[in-house]
Amino acid sequence: MNVGEVIYQMKEYAKENHIPIITEEGLRFLLDYLKKNHVQHILEVGTAIGYSAICMCNLDPSITVVTIERDEERYLEAVKNVKKAGMEERIQLIYHDALDVHLEEKFDFIFIDAAKAQNMKFFQKFSLHLKDGGTILTDNMNFHGLVFQKEEEIESRNLRQLVRKVKDYKTFLTKQVDYQTKFYDIGDGLAVSVKL
Ligand code: SAM
Repeated sequence: MNVGEVIYQMKEYAKENHIPIITEEGLRFLLDYLKKNHVQHILEVGTAIGYSAICMCNLDPSITVVTIERDEERYLEAVKNVKKAGMEERIQLIYHDALDVHLEEKFDFIFIDAAKAQNMKFFQKFSLHLKDGGTILTDNMNFHGLVFQKEEEIESRNLRQLVRKVKDYKTFLTKQVDYQTKFYDIGDGLAVSVKL
């Protein structure tokens, strides 16, 4: 099976099984960014079934990805998909809670796409593994448009708290003196933070 077919099948699987994967628009932006900046070594927080990891690797044979997933079923599906795509040598899948993973290496690019409420913790932990001049891209910054809604209009208390955390993370990013962050209204909202 060629990689294009594997990618197509993963998209269908994600749709049928309600697995959240990056939007088409978000993916296009991400892949363009990687290409323009000649990114080689990537850390991804939030593998799901390996869709974005395989798409990123598919850009260029020299790209390698380390990706972390805490959900066993999704991780096992990602293992299968990476094998089908023939990318076992280039994609390292880690089955763990990202906040408990110990990494030694440094990356050119970090893609944060896991639990929104923990974005700040992911940034604080993994930014230590980013090379100078590298980029951290965070997805879901718009939280399906909820960050633009008045808080009192959001009925669920849990949802309100989550929205507040996404907003706090936005503020946190703008205050990082070592990073320059730009927000893009693409897909579900992207934050691109470049380490100065
Ligand atoms: N990047 C994937 C793609 O576009 O194909 C989609 C990832 S999905 C939006 C988010 C994933 O992050 C979920 O599968 C979830 O289980 C995982 N996740 C959430 N919190 C995590 C954590 N603390 N550690 C590891 N994985 C986590």
